[in-house]
Amino acid sequence: MTDPRPNLSIDADRFWSTLMRSAEIGPGLSGGLRRLALSDSDKEMRDQFVAWCKELGCTVSVDAAGSIFARRAGREDDLPPVFVGSHLDTQAAGGRFDGILGVLSGLEILRTLNDNGITTRRPIEVVNWTNEEGARFAPPMAASCVFAGLQTIEWLHDLKDDDGIRFGDELERIGYLGDAPVGGRDLDSYFELHIEQDSLMEEKDKSVGVVTGGYASHALTCVFHGECAHTGPTEMKKRKNAMIGAAYFLAAVNDIGWDYEPVGRTSASRMQIWPNKFGILPEFTEVTVDMRHLDRNKTDEMVEKTRAALAEAGKKGNVEVEVTAEWTFGDEVFDPDCAALVRGAAEARGTSCMDIKSIAGHDAYYISRIAPTALVFSPCVDGITHNEAEDVKFEPTIEAVNVFFDAVVARADR
Ligand SMILES: [Zn+2]
Repeated sequence: MTDPRPNLSIDADRFWSTLMRSAEIGPGLSGGLRRLALSDSDKEMRDQFVAWCKELGCTVSVDAAGSIFARRAGREDDLPPVFVGSHLDTQAAGGRFDGILGVLSGLEILRTLNDNGITTRRPIEVVNWTNEEGARFAPPMAASCVFAGLQTIEWLHDLKDDDGIRFGDELERIGYLGDAPVGGRDLDSYFELHIEQDSLMEEKDKSVGVVTGGYASHALTCVFHGECAHTGPTEMKKRKNAMIGAAYFLAAVNDIGWDYEPVGRTSASRMQIWPNKFGILPEFTEVTVDMRHLDRNKTDEMVEKTRAALAEAGKKGNVEVEVTAEWTFGDEVFDPDCAALVRGAAEARGTSCMDIKSIAGHDAYYISRIAPTALVFSPCVDGITHNEAEDVKFEPTIEAVNVFFDAVVARADR
């Protein structure tokens, strides 16, 4: 194993001011960010990121999914690159660090290498994956999913937001419909640093979390088809109220979560109703629900119970039901060698470190299907995330980025 260069460190103040510059682009209402994928503010952030990368002399390419790759050449530039990245898009009322920390720490790694005149053996590419959040275009992690060959680019381009606007059209509008093919590339490895999005690390006072696996997660989009009718004259027995079918279903899904707590959990997080007007029984309702458990068998069990609850809710609500989309992730196994590099780097620096499971989804899950992958966590304050109040502390974050730097450089130099 190559010496993980414990003597080099990132420029903490520069890194922090880069994060704070990002925090100005697409501000939310209460101190966080609203930088939805393929919005004008996403474009502005992308332009800023590309400008920073070009200042460093990187070659920047954009693929047909809009993901951005900033490449710093290696001494043996034909070798497969080490990828480092995450996402710059946010939730509708999101934080300043979720995803952003990972992309900008990749940028800081390249800046630090430039400062010290170091060329790694393998090239390093910093990646911004498009639409990780899925907040505007469901599902989440959509571009990395295509990159990993699990979906087609046509599928991605045809995703629509709640206003019916097509992903592919928005990508073109903001100027990020690139010409690089999506995926099909030979990667040495992928490293992603992300805030923990829970409070375990903070409680244990650890600066680095090495993710060894994830909660097995399964999401379903379900549609309830009813019939529009006047709320007044329509007898109870004649009603086909799509919203009521969904209501029975959502309560049942929540009950399933209670049967598996505290490890298991079910969530209902999104509902669309049409026409959604007073005085009219709605004819269409679409909901998205998900089930998570550490044990894949338990998740599968919860999914089966959810399907049964869906059929039951359809009957009780006198409406037709269908599952229109589903996705699953979380049992992907991260690479033991990449994880060992992170642990070794933490030890060499005397930085506190722990193994941890991820409950949330990340691009690293999909990329782990095609390349050795490390997912690394840094702590966040009180576990608050997907919320504008999301925050991190300066010292443990900088410690985590330094450990991350060592691991990435060691891998790129091996
Ligand atoms: Zn994220």
